[in-house]
Amino acid sequence: MNIVIFGPPGAGKGTQSNFIVKNYNLYQLSTGELLRHEIKNKTSLGSKISSIINSGELVSDQIVGGLIEKYISNEIYKNKLIFDGYPRNINQAKNLENILKKYKQKIHLALKLSVSLVSIRKRISERKTLEKRSDDTEIIAVKRYENYEKNIKPVIDFYNNSNLLQVVDGEGSIAQISKEISGLIDSIKGWLCSIAQYKYAETNS
Ligand code: AMP
Repeated sequence: MNIVIFGPPGAGKGTQSNFIVKNYNLYQLSTGELLRHEIKNKTSLGSKISSIINSGELVSDQIVGGLIEKYISNEIYKNKLIFDGYPRNINQAKNLENILKKYKQKIHLALKLSVSLVSIRKRISERKTLEKRSDDTEIIAVKRYENYEKNIKPVIDFYNNSNLLQVVDGEGSIAQISKEISGLIDSIKGWLCSIAQYKYAETNS
């Protein structure tokens, strides 16, 4: 099963992706982490993208698309990926569809974690007390939230039109959200299983 998870910065995507990885034997593909890895390893791509990442802008769709294709094309990850931080705009959503099609795969579930800006601000201010972050962090986070909302709308419509979208209330506790996500994944797994059984019965009858 391939899953896409999206939500604004601070929505708990990373936490819930980890939960899914551990419980459903999937691999997390975080484009932010892949890009940071390139910078840390001082690759030629890393030097090209470091200033873009540091300014908070998005890296080009072409660069990120090239990175994710390396994973999608690898048999080890076939139908076992959770995409975290990708797609971030409609162009990337369509590109993901094309790459998956090329390797005879698809998305089975698009999870949208919904959290209001008020809650995100609250989470950040709580974190600020604990981690002694500067006030700037909140301003930047609000900006990133607004950017996210602007770009993600067509992506949501895209997955909604494909009947893949499930909106999860991201305001609850981590355990509540994980439980809701589990229920959704389990029902899709059950459905995929019955399709496989049906196909098996058809070819063997
Ligand atoms: P993240 O860890 O997901 O917050 O991503 C950190 C940074 O990596 C972002 O601010 C972007 O500069 C870059 N990035 C991550 N994912 C993407 C993506 N899908 N498209 C373009 N840039 C991305």
